[in-house]
Amino acid sequence: CMQTKDEVLSFCEKNNVRFIRLWFTDVLGSLKSFAITYQELEGALNEGMGFDGSSIKGFARIDESDMMAFPDPSTFQILPWRSGEEKVARMFCDITNPDGTPYKGDPRYVLKSKLKKLAEKGMSFYVGPELEFFYFKSDTEPIPLDRGGYFDLTTLDAASNLRRDTIRTLEDMGIKVEYSHHEVAPSQHEIDLRYTDALKMADNVMTYRIVVKEIAQKYGFYATFMPKPLAGINGSGMHVHQSLFNGDHNGFFNGEDTYYLSDMAKKYIAGILTHAREIALVTNQWVNSYKRLVPGYEAPVYICWARRNRSALVRVPLYKPGMEKATRIEVRNPDPACNPYLAFSAMLTAGLAGIENNYQLPDPIEKDVYHMSQKDRESYRIKSLPGSLREAIDCASESSLLKNALGDHIYEYLIQSKQIEWDEYRTVVHPYEVERYLPIL
Ligand code: GLU
Ligand code: MG
Ligand code: MG
Repeated sequence: CMQTKDEVLSFCEKNNVRFIRLWFTDVLGSLKSFAITYQELEGALNEGMGFDGSSIKGFARIDESDMMAFPDPSTFQILPWRSGEEKVARMFCDITNPDGTPYKGDPRYVLKSKLKKLAEKGMSFYVGPELEFFYFKSDTEPIPLDRGGYFDLTTLDAASNLRRDTIRTLEDMGIKVEYSHHEVAPSQHEIDLRYTDALKMADNVMTYRIVVKEIAQKYGFYATFMPKPLAGINGSGMHVHQSLFNGDHNGFFNGEDTYYLSDMAKKYIAGILTHAREIALVTNQWVNSYKRLVPGYEAPVYICWARRNRSALVRVPLYKPGMEKATRIEVRNPDPACNPYLAFSAMLTAGLAGIENNYQLPDPIEKDVYHMSQKDRESYRIKSLPGSLREAIDCASESSLLKNALGDHIYEYLIQSKQIEWDEYRTVVHPYEVERYLPIL
């Protein structure tokens, strides 16, 4: 992978790269892109490339719409699906105001500045996400390609060629894949990325989503990261494995502890549990996200932690000797339709609040919390995630932690935009209502 502007320029010259796509992300996590030619690249690297930010979601108002995009040389990659003789490359950009100051509405900047503060204390934040998704015949109706289930192979797994092609493309773009398999639901798949530092991973998640969609399209199918496309079967999650390192040392590991977790890890978990309701607007940002977070589908509803139990919000993967570096926690509520920059930033801020304020971690819950009675849950003081986008907006509106995790600009835009989404949704007459009420009322 390249590091400097000069390396990028000479690579493009030698390899006949004619177009360079400049990528960045809007507040709701959509990838945005504009292309420049090789001739413009040197100028873009040195002085940035101007663009109109006024129609980008969560970016500037019309009266302050001039923005600059500065491509980050370390993110230079060839787009394998666009490449014949003349190659097309991409770079992620940092967005600035015309005077060169970082633009506060840029999610990449938000995460970058959190990680910078952490680095000042000598620490880094590593994440490994597991993104689940569905292949459907088209984007108009969720018709599965197969009737396979967990780890199924060949005939039932119509998509194994597709998945192989996808993994190859990811690896060609410098993204390491840990493993991949058919998930529990028909036509549902998962490709797990090998952990990296959080900024690189947020870029990787953006790339992953576009690669999965591009390859599906090549085969005439449609891939979706919608959290719950089909009622009655599992939805798609993005479990996020996380750990904090002190230089080379995994700050989450303690060989003496029953759970092999350090005090820091325990406080971090406590932070995630304490603030899960407030940051849900970021980890689970759509109306549809809350249709996944219901009992019975391996997605968390109740806020607790465990070692094995998949109904818990935080799970601690089983320790095996030699796993010092791999000791981590798995946060299970985020979904793959989130903005990864903001989701990583929000989880990190919650975890760090636990460490800084010495939160106490409650005991793990190894029972299936889906089937616990309300009374038992109350006796363990287990709270629930928000049950709807409405409730998530309310929790977020009162959260100074979330405001701190996102910065004022993005925080305010997010709440406003989600309020509009909720109002649109609640005024629709749902098929349920027609079916249920029309014949009897
Ligand atoms: N699909 C489940 C979810 O919604 C997760 C299944 C698994 O444990 O991998 O989070
Ligand atoms: Mg899975
Ligand atoms: Mg998992």
